[in-house]
Amino acid sequence: MANYSEVVTSMRSVFRTGRTKNVEWRRSQLMALLKLLDDNRERLSDALKKDLNKSRFESCLMEVDFVRNDLINTLNNLTEWVKPEKVKKGLINMMDKVYIRREPFGVVMIMGAWNYPVQLTVAPMIGALAAGNCIMMKPSEISENVAALLEELFPKYFDTECIKCVCGGIPETTALLKEKWDYIFYTGNSMVGKIVMKAAAEYLTPVTLELGGKSPVYIDQGCDLGIVSNRVLWGKVMNAGQTCIAPDYIMCSKETQDALVEKMKATLGEFYPDGPAKSPDYCRLVSDRHYQRVKKMIGGGGKVALGGDSDDSQRYIAPTVLTDVTFSDPIMQDEIFGPVLPIVPVKNEDEAIAHINEGCTGTPLAFYVFSNNQQVVNKLVEGANSGTCCVNDCLMQASLPTLPFGGVGNSGMGGYHGKFTFDTFSHKRGCMERGLKMESVNNMRYPPFTKKKENTAAWIMKKKLKSNGSMSLIPYFIFGTLFAVILKVIFAPETPVMNFFSR
Ligand code: NAD
Repeated sequence: MANYSEVVTSMRSVFRTGRTKNVEWRRSQLMALLKLLDDNRERLSDALKKDLNKSRFESCLMEVDFVRNDLINTLNNLTEWVKPEKVKKGLINMMDKVYIRREPFGVVMIMGAWNYPVQLTVAPMIGALAAGNCIMMKPSEISENVAALLEELFPKYFDTECIKCVCGGIPETTALLKEKWDYIFYTGNSMVGKIVMKAAAEYLTPVTLELGGKSPVYIDQGCDLGIVSNRVLWGKVMNAGQTCIAPDYIMCSKETQDALVEKMKATLGEFYPDGPAKSPDYCRLVSDRHYQRVKKMIGGGGKVALGGDSDDSQRYIAPTVLTDVTFSDPIMQDEIFGPVLPIVPVKNEDEAIAHINEGCTGTPLAFYVFSNNQQVVNKLVEGANSGTCCVNDCLMQASLPTLPFGGVGNSGMGGYHGKFTFDTFSHKRGCMERGLKMESVNNMRYPPFTKKKENTAAWIMKKKLKSNGSMSLIPYFIFGTLFAVILKVIFAPETPVMNFFSR
């Protein structure tokens, strides 16, 4: 095992030279990443096939092209994002320059997960680079082929003093977590999330935790169940259910359940005409441990309505639908993270909301609502909490870089994608630049305090409550500008008025 202390120390000393803060350096490394993705498209796809039997279509759509688009978006907007952000000023700051500078944290560690081993390592890296950080990448050891490929490629493309990739399992991760990082971005399960947060607490290192959870689907009466079936099953069978925002379970009425199962049978027939086992489009479970865990879940409640078969030699589990499951069944206690989909009959949306908010599995990472009725949609979206939400589809909320992606409570903390990733890896440094003139105005805040000073300060500083937020700001703006001009004229070098404040 490498001496990580030495590695971090040398990365930090390069960071302190300011090399990574240079926007041209950031751009050059982002361009290097683009080249890495374009040159190695086939190799990445092959590695994904070996690790997860991922189809070329899913490798492109959900991994390589997904991050490539995020990268292009970042390159296109970098100049804008790195500019200091002007903010609103108060009356007493009229003459000042006030702005937010986005500063890199320093040396950051990114710990990826195995289910989307390209996307979940590269997407955070894009924002970390754009923000000007040094990066230590730790891909998941479980997707070993992608991890080995990234470790091989990093030194060929990047500034090796600032950007590194290290492979390894729990001992390596444990050793890395003993080091002082300036930011840790972790994707994975909540058990390791707690280990990461404890390690980070030692140095008061900020963290983003992208965790999982049981993401529910609620299906209202009156939906076109053929469309619902296509969209829910697409979200579930992608990557054989090993997606953090995959629909974990369905809640609907008993009648909807029975009609939906028929539609799901038809959908699976269309998705996999020769059966999922023979389809090149259907993934396998990533490891024996995950395979055994998910296989056991098939007997974890209700009855098997579709699928249920498996093949140990390939770690294959068919898309499986369980009906008449109850909230107390074993399968409803933990995230499934595999191609098994329980349906829990509920009376109405109130029962669904109560379960999501009060159930033992914590706040989900995603919540999916299918309904034609806007009132029902509003009630569910407002009533139940989740990290992300999508109405009348699954997974699609994660495809838009203008939406933050992340959990809340049990499902994690912090968000990313698009500019949110850049912001995640930037310290928002509030800056104010003042002149050294007009000291007489400032005398008001210096002791000895008098009643006059107190009244003047209160008059200048006191905020007024807006009425319903609808009152126009124009009179305030005009008044503020006039006030600033008057101040400048009247309090110009030593006029008699000055003595009023300095007395
Ligand atoms: P994993 O087992 O690959 O673990 C991720 C990292 O944790 C790896 O680097 C690994 O070395 C490290 N690790 C594992 N055990 C450790 C230990 N005891 N001590 C220190 N480090 C340890 O990934 P996983 O947890 O199996 O991933 C699946 C989970 O991740 C699911 O719950 C899923 O929902 C969640 N997930 C969330 C997102 C998201 O974006 N929110 C994305 C993908 C996966």
